Amino acid sequence: MEQLNMSQINETHDIHLISWVDSANDNSEFPIQNLPLGIFRRAGSGEVLRGGVAIGDQVLDIAGAVRTGIFDGLALQAAQAAAESSLNRLMGMGSAASGALRLALSRALRSDSEVRAQIQECLVPQADVEYGMPSRVGDYTDFYTSINHASAVGALFRPDNPLLPNYKWIPIAYHGRSSTIGISGTAFARPMAQIKAVSSNEPDFGPSRRLDYEVEVGVFIGEGSEAGDRIGIDVAEDHIFGLCLLNDWSARDIQAWEYQPLGPFLAKNFATTISPWIVTREALAPFRTKFSRPKGDPQPLSYLASHINSEQGAIDLQLECYIQTENMRAAGEKPVKLSSACFSEAYWTVGQMVAHHSVNGCAMNPGDLLGTGTQSGANRDQSGSLLELTRGGTDAIRLPNGESRNFLEDGDSVLIRGFCEREGAARIGFGEVEATILPAQD
Ligand code: CA
Repeated sequence: MEQLNMSQINETHDIHLISWVDSANDNSEFPIQNLPLGIFRRAGSGEVLRGGVAIGDQVLDIAGAVRTGIFDGLALQAAQAAAESSLNRLMGMGSAASGALRLALSRALRSDSEVRAQIQECLVPQADVEYGMPSRVGDYTDFYTSINHASAVGALFRPDNPLLPNYKWIPIAYHGRSSTIGISGTAFARPMAQIKAVSSNEPDFGPSRRLDYEVEVGVFIGEGSEAGDRIGIDVAEDHIFGLCLLNDWSARDIQAWEYQPLGPFLAKNFATTISPWIVTREALAPFRTKFSRPKGDPQPLSYLASHINSEQGAIDLQLECYIQTENMRAAGEKPVKLSSACFSEAYWTVGQMVAHHSVNGCAMNPGDLLGTGTQSGANRDQSGSLLELTRGGTDAIRLPNGESRNFLEDGDSVLIRGFCEREGAARIGFGEVEATILPAQD
């Protein structure tokens, strides 16, 4: 087994910790070593949205915990920021503040906690809550960091030229829209736009017939940077608050007609869905792993290379994608798995994404969201989109109930789940991101 990343491991990662919240100790996605942050309120209550931390099957209301007086010092300042209706201010306070909050929460929720009686009333069952966006996302940028995905998609769009020459040098990305980022549990209408059939000389207007999902990881920016400044690769990680799951819904027929010369536009910006809980960078410390390039590939330019990035720039995060059709839902059938892949195979790391994004002086702000791009492994059952699974819609997948899919149909729900596990560390989950396709609106 590789050495755990000792420099960032501390008492909050101790595999032996247990919580007085019993459900956290029972193979939960949210054991006491995880402590992901999100924005919530009791469902249908009209309460103000506020920050919470997931522990087992409960949410600890951070605003309520602040009122009990259990926090002090930097942890208190961080908790007050986390109690607001978005986490932007906490994110901007930097990693020392979020680390102080994590330590205070860990100690408060342990089995030997001295403040259990004070904060017991601040627990709300996750089953009773609805979630808000974790941050007000000012800017959203989507990268393209899986070379398996880039090669497979490139081969479908440009059979003679699948991987463009800049791919191995630049962490490729495009600027998306923050206006249509939504939280898990939503539904949205199939998009309408211009579509040109291959057999036709002119486009038509109508609903997308090649609607797809993309299995991605979302990266929330913590401390920001000023316009004109660049975030060096050595400190890039300090500007990352945490990660979530992200589905970048994509209309392949709209994309094929519009994407040249300036890249994705309406094919992508009708919906992006994220999971409600942000797993902090600190929680991921035990799951960091080496970043390396295949032999013969160019090494990253110096502004994208560092010792730390090579030793622990990658993240061993397992991703799984599931579908549940309307018929399956009606029959009470559970979602079925379509694929699984590992984020550690990405061609670029989250640190390289941040360093590259800001190298020209582009300002990064707390709460900004970066997508990693679709994460696909080398094998077909590791494909993070239907485009790859069905080879461009030419080879339909069969579902256990007899239905088949080339692309998504109305009523389909897609779920992405994620987790990190390794020997010597507590397994932590990301929860899930789920959304459902509604019929196009006339
Ligand atoms: Ca994408």
